[in-house]
Amino acid sequence: MTAVFPLPGERPVQGLWARRMALSVLVLTLLSLNAVAEPSCSAHPLALQILGSGGPVADDSRASSGYLLWHQGRSRLLVDAGSGVFTRFGEAGARFADLDLLALSHFHTDHAASLPALLKSGYFSSRRRPLPVVGPGAAGPFPSLDQFLHRLLDRKQGAFAYLAGYLTGTDGLVKLEPTTVKVDLREPVTVYDAGGLRVEALPVPHGIVPALAFRATVAGRTLVFGSDQNGSGAAFKDLARGADLLVLHAAIPERAGRAARSLHAVPSRLADIARDTDPATLVISHWMARSLRHQQAIASSIVEQYGGKLALAQDLDCFPLLPEVQQEQDSDVP
Ligand SMILES: [Zn+2]
Repeated sequence: MTAVFPLPGERPVQGLWARRMALSVLVLTLLSLNAVAEPSCSAHPLALQILGSGGPVADDSRASSGYLLWHQGRSRLLVDAGSGVFTRFGEAGARFADLDLLALSHFHTDHAASLPALLKSGYFSSRRRPLPVVGPGAAGPFPSLDQFLHRLLDRKQGAFAYLAGYLTGTDGLVKLEPTTVKVDLREPVTVYDAGGLRVEALPVPHGIVPALAFRATVAGRTLVFGSDQNGSGAAFKDLARGADLLVLHAAIPERAGRAARSLHAVPSRLADIARDTDPATLVISHWMARSLRHQQAIASSIVEQYGGKLALAQDLDCFPLLPEVQQEQDSDVP
């Protein structure tokens, strides 16, 4: 790990020290510029709200992964539903009835454990139309999206069999419409395209775990969600290139062990991705205690290589993507 601040007894090189102090100030300044902390992210014509900026360990005081796309007052796209996202979904004022797509990157608890709770909550909503859901295919011990839904909801074998109506559109529940993305795909595939919102999915390397990155295009803006990945896949850079907002995950510090590095990207790899894909704004999320301890150093090292706008996600942060006055001319939606 590169030390940004001098350790006790050390005297840093003056020029390097001054440069890194300036980078730290820049990071903090960008933080205050990018993230708009307010209760109503929904009021923006287009915005991304962080529902969960944490990881799988209960040591970061954050909800696990979840990202909500607001468009014209509607909560249209939910990417991931990790532990705690259920609570943040309500706090954000999101509506189950408004969801056009639920995109699950993979079946680790910190990305999918809130799903049954959100579905139960949805029973009380006004929703009548089916709910499209996208997720990865099976590999090793990890189920496909279809298997995952059946293991939760099957009328005979499901853990939450009382919600089985979600598989059939009965019992007062809307039908889930699953789209399973094959894990050996090398090119992105469109998984949703309606109402001016297009979402593509691409498998990304996350150890043995089948995982998907997503690219959403709406109202002339593009958002890319890197999900959990080790950053070694070349195709992801093509998916992410030129995004208005790119969300990457900083789960591990630079000196993480081999097992962790097979699952997650180290900060220098995040910086490499950001430099090569050049997003208008880079949001670093999926913080865990082990990466939060090095948060300032991670941010500074990324800024040093990437040079663009960087924000460090916190739960319920809001990132507007469309100026208020340009709502009409930039919108694809009639
Ligand atoms: Zn994760």
